Amino acid sequence: MASDRSLGRLYCLLRNRFGFQDWWPGETTDEIFISAILTQNTSWVNVEKAMLNLRRRHLLDISSISSSNLRTLETAIKPSGFYKQKARRLKNISSYICSKYGSLSKMLGADADTLRRELLSMDGIGPETADCILLYAAEKPIFVVDAYTCRIMSRIYNLPEMGYEEMQELVTSGITKNVELYNDFHAQFVKLGKDYCKKNKPLCKNCPAKQICIYYKKTKGN
Ligand code: SF4
Repeated sequence: MASDRSLGRLYCLLRNRFGFQDWWPGETTDEIFISAILTQNTSWVNVEKAMLNLRRRHLLDISSISSSNLRTLETAIKPSGFYKQKARRLKNISSYICSKYGSLSKMLGADADTLRRELLSMDGIGPETADCILLYAAEKPIFVVDAYTCRIMSRIYNLPEMGYEEMQELVTSGITKNVELYNDFHAQFVKLGKDYCKKNKPLCKNCPAKQICIYYKKTKGN
């Protein structure tokens, strides 16, 4: 059972081992917004290459993207994969924001529920991307669930498969509602998932969470 104490303990174990993760990379809210869309179905290394290309072309803000040439945008973000689809979506979303709000910061000023609904209504923005934007760009207390979160939570607490919102509710019911905590806890999940709780073969022996992990207790890391 992922109780308050247990989730608090999990966070402490991860934070003590990994330190504060200081996410999300991006100098402006526009950059965070753009990278949250580019990171879909690709690694962060590829997003960084695409972001560098956008920087070189002065396309790291919503307004510039909305008025950019689609082919130029496609070429710039090619390293992030699915570049034609992502370029079209980025341009459409940017144009929509510019024409309706004038700037991204105006749109992000809405309350969390309204903003989440609006983001989810946009083509190419699903729950994980919407929540990344809400948490990291708009600084709203919305927890981001990703594949790392689901894998780690299900192994540590022996949970059945569950949907996005169900997992989000489970995590947030066990920790204080706080932007900085949500931000860092999500980053800790990503770090644990990349370094130890790997998809095919978890590296349990040196994992900082093994003392509270049901999977480890069952398998002893074998
Ligand atoms: S002990 Fe193993 S299964 Fe449990 S969280 Fe760590 S790596 Fe994952």
